[in-house]
Amino acid sequence: MTPGVSVSGSPVVDGGHLVSTSPATGEEVGRFPVADAAAVAAAVARARDAADWWRDLGFDGRRKRLYAWRALITSRLDELTGIMHREGGKPIVDATAESAGAIDHIHWAAKHAKRVLRSRRVGGTLMQSEYTAHVEYQPYGVIGVIGPWNYPVFTPVGSIGYALAAGNTVVFKPSEYTPAVGQFLVDTFAEVVPEHPVFQIVHGLGDTGAALVTSGVDKIAFTGSTRTGKKVMAAAAETLTPVLLECGGKDAMIVDSDADLDAAAEAAVWGGLFNAGQTCIGIERVYAVDAVYDAFLAKVVAKAGKLTVGAEPGADIGPMTMPSQIDVVRRHIAAALADGGEAVLGGPEAVRPPFVHPTILVNVPETSEAVREETFGPTLTIARVRDVDEAVERSNAAHYGLAGAVFGKARAMATARRLRSGMTSINSTLSFAGIPSLPFGGVGDSGFGRIHGADGLREFARPKAIAKRW
Ligand code: NAP
Repeated sequence: MTPGVSVSGSPVVDGGHLVSTSPATGEEVGRFPVADAAAVAAAVARARDAADWWRDLGFDGRRKRLYAWRALITSRLDELTGIMHREGGKPIVDATAESAGAIDHIHWAAKHAKRVLRSRRVGGTLMQSEYTAHVEYQPYGVIGVIGPWNYPVFTPVGSIGYALAAGNTVVFKPSEYTPAVGQFLVDTFAEVVPEHPVFQIVHGLGDTGAALVTSGVDKIAFTGSTRTGKKVMAAAAETLTPVLLECGGKDAMIVDSDADLDAAAEAAVWGGLFNAGQTCIGIERVYAVDAVYDAFLAKVVAKAGKLTVGAEPGADIGPMTMPSQIDVVRRHIAAALADGGEAVLGGPEAVRPPFVHPTILVNVPETSEAVREETFGPTLTIARVRDVDEAVERSNAAHYGLAGAVFGKARAMATARRLRSGMTSINSTLSFAGIPSLPFGGVGDSGFGRIHGADGLREFARPKAIAKRW
């Protein structure tokens, strides 16, 4: 992003400040000092100074603070969702659901860190008579968290809450599109932990994120596009800084012949189009078996055609947050049609910046960019397949592997296991995201490492082996 860009909804840099604006109106939402490399290094140094104090509070002390943070965010939920709506264009109902999910994660991480990360005695070796041995899970120190704009609360909190509960301090770089949301998180945390800068924020464009990666933090938890994730990993390799990468997706949903078609259609519309389709684990491709394809498609089109689109807080689909993403959606719709596909709802005329209306595309070849690459807009491709085997094969052909969904009965569990993805829902979409104890993450170009649940806590603690001779 070039400083000074002034497209409505795009952030601008003005007098050393990042200015965030509403994607619907272009009106200013917040203004934050840009952190250059020196400012990032200073924040990391402060976080390192605070690290011993936070670690030594212990699990119980940290749990109390994290519970207090959760309570404070809950009591100011209207304020938070208002900022999310103004800065990201997110409908209030989506902003509320997202925030509630994040609050659940803070609670889960705080509650379970002590159990998951307690020291473990190990035995069973030949030398057992001479040694006692145990594993301790020690915090890394300072974690750099880099977040995206599409879920500016749920996504970073999925790393931040767990990193803090495990005893690390955090320096957070929010997306340039959602700095005010990030600032809210840090400010509320400082109210419940005023003693030391345990959780700090650095604002800026991609340069600030890049500076954080090479700042000497002990681990980077990155969520964003695959393209940026690869850059982060390459930069981190210079200092062997460990990385956790939560990247993009092109998630598939399979509809089997014994599926409940009303539920499947409802889920495809919800999973594919809500949050204006700007969801990493959103459904972008559907494979429906021949026997139910026509009935399923008719139901999806009827439901999607009723969605409301607008800037009002109660709209089903709000404006696209990032103006440049509208170009990607426009390009993918054009590619689908040029490659022989057909729009049965929406189409090129559905792109009316800053909005994109629901678009359902059929008969799009698998080789089309619209099927291969992440669209990140309120569009779905729906394909007719011979049987579940073909559906699995086409689902698994993606270079991404984040999540997916299966609708059906007899073969549903077996089909879910065959999908090449980190997460799969059966007879629902995205439901794994609402269960804090489940690990969240992908395979292939969707990244590696896991946030959430016990696995998410372990991502932010180093196992240390100690063997003591009697
Ligand atoms: P992005 O453009 O990759 O940016 C992500 C973050 O990285 C932003 O804070 C960005 O800062 C920063 N950044 C940019 N260049 C960097 C660099 N060279 N080094 C370090 N940091 C850098 O992604 P986005 O557009 O914000 O988010 C959408 C993407 O995130 C989609 O692909 C979506 O699928 C993915 N996503 C994945 C998950 C998941 O859990 N797997 C969850 C949500 C979103 P600036 O904003 O200043 O450029």
